[in-house]
This record gives sequence, structure tokens and C-alpha cells, in this order.
Amino acid sequence: MKKIPHRIYLTEEHMPKQWYNIRADIGEIPPMLNPKTLKPITVDDLSLVFTKVAAEQELDTKNAFIPIPDEIRDRYFAYRPSPLVRAYNLEKSLGTPAKIYYKHEGNNTSGSHKLNSALAQAYYAKEQGIKSLMTETGAGQWGTALSEACANFGLELTIFMIKSSVAQKPYRKVIMETLGSKVIPSPSQTTEAGKRILADNPDSPGSLGCAISEAVEASMRDEYSRYALGSVLNHVVLHQSVIGLESKIALEMYDEYPDVVIGCAGGGSNLAGLIAPFVRDKVKGKGGPRIIASEPISCPSLTRGKYAYDFCDVQKVTPLTKMYTLGSSFIPATSHAGGLRYHGMSQIVSKLYADGIMEAVAFGQAKVFESAVYFAKNENILPAPESAHAISAAIDLALECKKTGEAKTILFGLTGLGHFDMTAYANYNDNLLSDGSPTDEELEVSFSKLPDIRR
Ligand SMILES: *Cc1c(COP(=O)(O)O)cnc(C)c1O
Repeated sequence: MKKIPHRIYLTEEHMPKQWYNIRADIGEIPPMLNPKTLKPITVDDLSLVFTKVAAEQELDTKNAFIPIPDEIRDRYFAYRPSPLVRAYNLEKSLGTPAKIYYKHEGNNTSGSHKLNSALAQAYYAKEQGIKSLMTETGAGQWGTALSEACANFGLELTIFMIKSSVAQKPYRKVIMETLGSKVIPSPSQTTEAGKRILADNPDSPGSLGCAISEAVEASMRDEYSRYALGSVLNHVVLHQSVIGLESKIALEMYDEYPDVVIGCAGGGSNLAGLIAPFVRDKVKGKGGPRIIASEPISCPSLTRGKYAYDFCDVQKVTPLTKMYTLGSSFIPATSHAGGLRYHGMSQIVSKLYADGIMEAVAFGQAKVFESAVYFAKNENILPAPESAHAISAAIDLALECKKTGEAKTILFGLTGLGHFDMTAYANYNDNLLSDGSPTDEELEVSFSKLPDIRR
């Protein structure tokens, strides 16, 4: 066997020419429903809000492989294929016989995997003759990624950024503005949804659900404007499949195959993208690894949620989706893993979890930051708090291997960098992190408000 280097770099020729559409292989998923008619959503319904191609990809259950347009691949080449790193130093420090690999998606300005879908969505908008995109951002990674993509393809971008995040991460706003985007703290007076929320509570710190409602409303005002979302949806998962496809190719070059694949789960897009080709092996009867989703105990959609139809936003304008959810009225306790604070979960991840193809674990902030710092001290990358959920799960497994003596091969997704999370790290250093986890009673109240739809 060839000696495995610390960083496995693929060349441009290795970069996938097609995305993998996991939906073609995992069986039927209950359809998304139009919130007004309760009928299955159509491409025409979705095209009012998203670009036409995104709408088609969203509902495509037939085509397992979808070509990546050359214009998008050319943009991917600026930062892809991303390195697959063998964490030799981490392994040594843990004293584990396990082999640990991570796929590093932090090497673009957004510091996250989100550019993989942002580029695709911006490209399809440009092709359709759309002039401007609207979106929301919580922690700021998605807004930054879409700013990069819109700058690449010459589109205008308006971003509704959660007001409390603007205060917490002021430099994120500066990056987005530097790349030419307009950033509006949400809730704002520029939309009816924002005005309604401000009338109730002038000091509202904002929320992801509210920012989504504002961005959707703003995009509906103009026929040359569309909305773009950075996670949860099937077309986003499709674009993120480059993460898993590249990982599989890189491992194959060294005759490696993972025993376990781990990803952090917010809306589920990086996780689903990372595991997609391995799930394919599993459903095609070719073995396949153990798959683990890692989420925060403050927002435990998989580990404590219900598999039920629910709305994707607070104002209930988005399609009803069958997913693991804490209820669209659930407001998670504040946590520094902003990218993981979503009440629901991608349909695809939900289906895989319901079918037992995947497991899930949840961690509190203290443990997550301890793992993050341990990782940084050994691998010289300060991870995003979101990514550190996957690191925590990987370290736990590696320590189990140390006990049993098994040399398991572990692959996890390092979704991004923590450079903009200094408030979070400062709180960890000062012992100020708290772990709000919902009580069963709180969840019951939220579940009782779920729409009554059984399918
Ligand atoms: C947004 C984000 C996540 C979570 O989003 P998913 O859709 O669940 O992948 C994880 N890590 C980072 C760095 C992010 O920016």
C-alpha cells in the first residue's frame, strides 16, 4: 500500500463532472406540500421563488447524476478539489490506532462549504436572466458565500442578516459589503413581515425564520429577482455532493474506505453531501460505512425531534415538509454554533435517519469547544463551532478504538474555520458557555403546534 500523505490533493482532472442526486437511490420521500392547497408542490410553484433550474433539481427523483456546468466547475477550481487531510498528529496525540481523515471545506472567504451551492445557485440565476438575489444569513457564512458567488457572476445581492448577529459578528457584514452586497439587519422596516415583527417587539433581536420571511417577501416584488437558500433543500444537498464524491475518490487512491463517516447537522446539507456516495454503496448492497450526524443539545432536531410535516419558516409561507423537526415555533437557546440552530432538518437526512441508515448524537457546547481547541492545538486549524460537533464525535470514536484496539478508518467533514467566532472562543476561555437544552415539556408545547397532516 502506498504511504498515505498528510494532505491528499486531487488534481483538476479528478474533480467530479457530475453531482450525485442521492434522491434517485433512497426510495420515495413524502412530497413537499403547498401550504395553501396542501397539494404536492410543483416546479411551477417553486419557480416563483427560486430559479427554474433550482426548482427542477429540487423535485428531481429520477436522475442519479447531474452534469456540473463548466462555468460552475471553473469557479470550483479556484478552491477545489478541497484537501482531504489525514490527521496523523491528532491520532498520535490521542494515542488511538484509528485512522482519522477530514475533508477541509474552509478554504474560501466564506470559511465554509456553503460556496459549493452558492456558485450553482448564482450561475443558474444569471443564465435565467435574473438580475438580483435575496437571501438571509444567520452566522454569516451563507451570506458571505453567496456574496462571493454573486460577485463572480455579476448579480446584485441583498442579505437580511439577523440583527443580533450583526452586533455579534460585525466583520462578517463588512466582508459581504466589501464584495458588493447590501446587508439589511433583520427584522427591518423594508418588508411587511419585518414591520409586523417590529410592531410587536421593537427590540426584537431577529431570528432565522424571520429573516427568511423578509428575504422571500422582498424577492417576490420583482420578476427579475429570486430567493436563494443555503441549506435544507434538496438542490442544496445535490450541490454539496462534491464533498463526498471528492472524498471517496481521494480515499480510493490509497485503497482506503471509511468504517465511519461523521458530519455536523444544521439543515443537513454538508452532512448529506459528504455521505451521499457512501449511502449509495449502502443502498446498493455494497456494504457502506456507519454514518453519524452530530448536532447541538440546544437544537436536537434528530435526537429529540419528531418525524412530521412542518413549516420551514416562522411566517408559514414556505412549503410543508416531512422532516425531523422541533416545531417551527421552537426557538433554540442561543448557542455559538449559529449554523446549527434550525428547528428542522433536510428531507433527505430525515428519511435516512427514519430508515435507520444513519445514527445521530448530540453534544453540549463545553464538550464541543474542548474538542475544537484540542483539534486546533494538534492540527493547526481553528475550526468553526459547527464543525467541532463532528470533531467531538470523531474524537469519541477514536478513544473507543483506543480501548478496543480496533484500527477503524474515520472520515469527518471539517465544514469551516472559526476565525469569525472569537466571541464564542472568548466565552469558552472565560468559562462563560452555558448549555440550554429544551425540557420535554417545552418540546411537547412546540410539537402540539405542528400542523395536523399525516401522509
Ligand atoms: C452553515 C454551516 C453548517 C451547517 O449547515 P448544514 O446545512 O447542516 O451543512 C456547518 N458548518 C459550517 C461552517 C456552516 O457554515
